[in-house]
This record gives sequence, C-alpha cells and structure tokens, in this order.
Amino acid sequence: MNNNNFNSDNNDARKEIADCQDVIAHLGDYTDNELPTATRLAVDAHLDVCPECAAFHASYNHVIDSAAELREPEQPLPVDVQNRLRAALNKRLGINLAMIA
Ligand SMILES: [Zn+2]
Repeated sequence: MNNNNFNSDNNDARKEIADCQDVIAHLGDYTDNELPTATRLAVDAHLDVCPECAAFHASYNHVIDSAAELREPEQPLPVDVQNRLRAALNKRLGINLAMIA
C-alpha cells in the first residue's frame, strides 16, 4: 500500500493560498462565489489574519458595488430623439407611429 500521493483537498488549498499574492489572484472568484469550498475557506482564513488583504478585499467589494450602481438605472432615450426616430421610421417604412407628447 502506497499513500505517498495522498493529499486532502484542504492541504491542496492551503498550498494554493500560500501568501497574499495568491489571495489577490483568487479574489475575483472569491467575490463571485466560484471558488471550491476548500480554497474559499483558505482565503477566508487568510483574510482573518491579514489586515492588508482584508483591506484590499473591502475596497475591491466597494469598486464592484460602485460599478453596479453606475450601470443603473438605464436612461430612456430623450423624447425628441425618440420622435425623430419614429418620424424616420414612418418615412422609411411607410408606417404611422404616433409621436410622443
Ligand atoms: Zn495577505
């Protein structure tokens, strides 16, 4: 019996998350919740003991949140632009879209 190649998932994850660079490299997947559980736990453990990475993680989340806010709300086309579009479509297609008041 040869157990030399035996490695638990946790041991693999600990090796994968060895230092700050590894945590930073995984932060995107960590935030998107796409890491395997063992790797996620290793990142969690590192964030608990490393103020630098914890601070980076916090600002990373802030950037993600700000970007999400920027995407919304969707601005409708201004009415005059919509009406010009409608007029152009009416002329072009011989249809009769009503103008917006
Ligand atoms: Zn760190």
